[in-house]
Amino acid sequence: MSENKIIDGKIVSAEIRKKVKELGGELIKNTGKTPGLAVVLVGDNPASRVYVKNKIEKTKEVGFNSIEHKLDEKVTEKELIKIVDKLNEDLNVQGILVQLPLPNHINSDKILDRIKPEKDVDGFHAQNVGKLWSGLTSLVPCTPLGCSILVKKISKDLSGKNAVIIGRSNIVGKPMAALLLEMNATVTICHSRTRDIETVCKDADILVAAVGIPEMVKSSWIKDGAVIIDVGINRIEREEKKILVGDVDYNECLDKCSKITPVPGGVGPMTIACLLLNTLLASYPQFGEQTPDLSSILE
Ligand code: NAD
Repeated sequence: MSENKIIDGKIVSAEIRKKVKELGGELIKNTGKTPGLAVVLVGDNPASRVYVKNKIEKTKEVGFNSIEHKLDEKVTEKELIKIVDKLNEDLNVQGILVQLPLPNHINSDKILDRIKPEKDVDGFHAQNVGKLWSGLTSLVPCTPLGCSILVKKISKDLSGKNAVIIGRSNIVGKPMAALLLEMNATVTICHSRTRDIETVCKDADILVAAVGIPEMVKSSWIKDGAVIIDVGINRIEREEKKILVGDVDYNECLDKCSKITPVPGGVGPMTIACLLLNTLLASYPQFGEQTPDLSSILE
């Protein structure tokens, strides 16, 4: 029975990548131009290196061009801005992603805001953030976009439902709130200064955990039948093995919830699929083409 409760991000993300490849193929055929995604990696963070490697592989798999800039940890802010400016003007580049975190001597906000909004496939530029909160069409941050697609597989309209998000980051928590509002949920955001999170979570029909604390959410925190989206990716050691766990105690919560995303294999694969989807979305206007109806992917 518990298999029916699992929201399989591997299956949904594979469907999205297949659709992106199909639509991308049509776009290439119609325009003679191939969408290009530029990834900028600064320094040697092992987790970032793995993410970037995956992103590059999956970009090529859908038939898009991958442009890579691997820069030394010591690159200056000025040099990085110069690279972003060049990519902004490059007609072979439709999407630009600067892998976070950046080294401390570089102001991330300044770099992210330097990316042309129409090439901002991470959806972090202030213009895209503003559009998202205004309910206008925009490039939406990939992880929350992926979460919203998974939620829509269960229910497209969350009227009358309470959604609680734990975490208020610009990358996950805040944009997630905007997307759930758009789906008519009543949304609460909890964070490190929230008092008695457990009580707030108990009211959630949809609970999104994006904190970075291994297995923080216990079964006593959740309502019977809650839908749980676990964004957390935490590397821990258990019984002398290195394993990945989420922010939710999966084994404890499985019985009580109605649906849950596993870690790994839940939200994680959706992030890259949505990055490719955003690259496709960014490419239509840049190639002078009308964006087709993508509701079959987004819902
Ligand atoms: P972040 O560190 O930027 O934000 C964490 C948030 O959690 C903050 O808003 C903070 O206020 C809140 N928080 C911290 N301690 C808390 C506590 N004790 N109680 C309640 N709230 C608390 O992290 P992020 O970038 O939003 O990522 C969150 C998690 O999601 C991490 O585990 C990260 O690895 C994971 N993540 C996964 C993907 C994916 O593709 N699956 C993408 C991005 C992030």
